[in-house]
Amino acid sequence: MYRGYTLSIMSRTSLLLARLGALFQQSVREDAAQHGLLPIHIQVLHYLAQANRYSDLPIAIAEYFGITRGTVSQTLGVLERKGLLTKRPDPHHGKRLHLGLTPAAETVLAGSWTGRVEQTLGELPIEEAVLQETLRSLLLALQRINDQRAFGICRQCAHFLNKSEGTECGLTGEPLATEQTVRLCREWTAQAGRGS
Ligand code: SF4
Repeated sequence: MYRGYTLSIMSRTSLLLARLGALFQQSVREDAAQHGLLPIHIQVLHYLAQANRYSDLPIAIAEYFGITRGTVSQTLGVLERKGLLTKRPDPHHGKRLHLGLTPAAETVLAGSWTGRVEQTLGELPIEEAVLQETLRSLLLALQRINDQRAFGICRQCAHFLNKSEGTECGLTGEPLATEQTVRLCREWTAQAGRGS
């Protein structure tokens, strides 16, 4: 009896996650269609809006979405032709290019499905920190199974240092501007006892 009950609860949770996933995919398709884009184009724009300076690179996009470099290259070509992408050379690393959003891309993202999710979350009587922690743990566990990089928020990284002279990345030894500390990073590492 008890075993059957547990399985039933698990399948309901999985079903809810699947329904949320399907709803998000539909919303991304609709957002993309409004601007004559494919879903991956919108997803890459959303990613770049969140990525820090170690992660606004084509290789990071390939890792984040689990797609080939060729697909990334095609996607970036479309975004550039549509005037939605900026490319900035890295002052320290030869041919490396940092990607960013143009004002037109920011307009595309304004009013997108993520805004509706934020608004709905704000209206629901839930403890958002608890929900975040649960979803983060699930995401980390599934990323490990899929052998994917974790990509976490800088401030929650094991390498994040909050010193009296300012915030710093313990991995690169470089100072971090405050706006960079709330962004996604491909080098993110779980803190001890937090899903590592
Ligand atoms: S502290 Fe961690 S998340 Fe932040 S920049 Fe360094 S490696 Fe990336």
